[in-house]
Amino acid sequence: MEIQNLQDMGEGVPVFDQTLKNHGLSLKRGKTITCQVNLGLLCNQACKHCHLSAGPGRKELMDLNTIHQVIEFQKKIKCEVVDITGGAPEMNPHLSVLIEEMATVSKTLMLRSNLSALYDAKDKVLLDLLVKHRVNIVSSLPSLNLAQTDAQRGEGIFDKSIEAFKLLNEMGYGKRGTGLVLDLVSNPTGAFMPPDQAIAEKRFYRFLKDKWGIVFNQLFTFANMPLGRFETWLKNKGNYEVYLNSLWKGFNPCTVEALMCRHLISISWDGYLYDCDFNQAAQLPKGNLRTHVSDLTSLGFENQEIAVGNHCYACTAGSGFT
Ligand code: SF4
Repeated sequence: MEIQNLQDMGEGVPVFDQTLKNHGLSLKRGKTITCQVNLGLLCNQACKHCHLSAGPGRKELMDLNTIHQVIEFQKKIKCEVVDITGGAPEMNPHLSVLIEEMATVSKTLMLRSNLSALYDAKDKVLLDLLVKHRVNIVSSLPSLNLAQTDAQRGEGIFDKSIEAFKLLNEMGYGKRGTGLVLDLVSNPTGAFMPPDQAIAEKRFYRFLKDKWGIVFNQLFTFANMPLGRFETWLKNKGNYEVYLNSLWKGFNPCTVEALMCRHLISISWDGYLYDCDFNQAAQLPKGNLRTHVSDLTSLGFENQEIAVGNHCYACTAGSGFT
């Protein structure tokens, strides 16, 4: 069994590719359904678990020229879903342009929001645009506990997140019959596995509804990626190897078929292609080649090998991240 650079990879953990082979599996792209656009690494929060090390001090933002190149790409590839992420995408001044243009060429638009950025922006034009184009909101909240959330995301973030939930509900988001989808993703507040998704969904739903009357559609849980700021934190605490080992031991071969990278193309803030957002943090470009969205000669990605690293164990542990 191949063991790579133990210091970097976690002591005794086989490289991910080898684990796939040991199970008679490989990871290849299928039909591309989702085009994920990262609008930049600037964020109002500096969460401890952030795999992209996004934060208030980051300067990387997708510029208008690249946004137009991404729109042209989507016109050619015609993905069903356009998934807008960051950092905090609300902090990119060209977000509205992207939404308006993408709405004309995409079936479904999604905006990933940490909630507090949406609350801070207090941008009525943006909020109206989200409703007008029925943009699905994928919000994030790690915990129902104020102290745990603020410890991971920054002081005052829990309260702002609750206010943003209320605002979105007032606009019809998360409410039955409106068609305005408000989903929630939750990741652990430390170096441990996420709880069972169905159980966590019930717990979050009951708590938020009972305490504030807040409703949402679905909740998704995922394991923290051992990349970026979370990787640094794990190493500083001496927990990196233990965490990677626990992800590897939880490897579930049944998750591989449904991994999101099989059907997603991820575009970085500067316009380069990746198989997923996590590979941006790991600096693993699609096909291990740095290809700019404006330089593509072919859109035929199907059956291409997906670039993998040991962070992929976070997607395949337990019920996986699909
Ligand atoms: S990190 Fe996850 S989504 Fe990305 S390539 Fe690895 S398995 Fe696929």
